[in-house]
Amino acid sequence: MRQISVCPICHRYSFQTLYESTDRMFHIPGKFSVLKCNNCSIAFLNPRPSFRELQKYYPTKRYYAYNENKKGFFSFIREYLIKHYYAPTIVSKIISVFISNVPAMPTWKNSGKILDVGCGTGETLQLLKRLGWDVYGIDIDRRAIKIARQKGLSRVEYGAYQHLSTYPDHFFDAIRLYHVIEHLDNPQECLRIIAQKLKIDGEIIIGTPNVESIVARIFKHYWYNLDSPRHLILFSANTLRKILKKEGYLPNEVRFCSAGGMAGSMQYVLFQITGRTINLINNTLFVLLIYPFEWIFDRLKQGDILIVRAKLYT
Ligand SMILES: [Zn+2]
Repeated sequence: MRQISVCPICHRYSFQTLYESTDRMFHIPGKFSVLKCNNCSIAFLNPRPSFRELQKYYPTKRYYAYNENKKGFFSFIREYLIKHYYAPTIVSKIISVFISNVPAMPTWKNSGKILDVGCGTGETLQLLKRLGWDVYGIDIDRRAIKIARQKGLSRVEYGAYQHLSTYPDHFFDAIRLYHVIEHLDNPQECLRIIAQKLKIDGEIIIGTPNVESIVARIFKHYWYNLDSPRHLILFSANTLRKILKKEGYLPNEVRFCSAGGMAGSMQYVLFQITGRTINLINNTLFVLLIYPFEWIFDRLKQGDILIVRAKLYT
């Protein structure tokens, strides 16, 4: 474990403890602290496990979702909405009012080159490809890449964000980071590289947990998306906007799009009380039951997941 002496974002050294937590997802031993910077308000894990130590907190088979035959109600709706994203039907328009969970689709263009950083098995890339996008992806999980390639996604490659340097400058029309930036040891460096690889009129789309969401405030260290020690940095709409501006972007749109964080948080509380895992997050009926609350939180701009779009400041 490595103690961080200055804020990883603004480099000041005045913090307060936000949450003390454990690995609630896999119950791998260890205690973790999430601090909040008194200057820039970013929340970050401190001390931070080394790269080698972190490996054990990503038990491959359990962490990465390889079983894609298991398609629930929400993934069915999501696929339908993506399919009709650029040519909406009356049905897709009506559904969109109630379900905003279409993650991080490019909005400003409807075709071109898109890179998905942390693409996993390429589920979203496959949908984007069907819509006419020229799709590229990188991921740090070799098994996921193998599956993505079997789906015909030939431009999916192994690599962390540093691998982005191998692409030509001003190459991509859109770059997507969905549930990725909170795992990075140096998100600013990643944003800097992306700025070089985006076309001048390109779009970056980031989806990440909102540390200031209502669910985070209610459940505190039981908050599902705290996910210690895998989430190294946690953003709010303001902190993410500030960092994007600092790295030369013009944040254009912030949306809130909760996705099961409340059910997951309740699951963790129930585990604490009963000592058993009661699987609420995969219980479609339960998720539907609490969905109205998440829908309201999103409308109040207090939802659990932030989707931020930005373009380069020119
Ligand atoms: Zn700071």
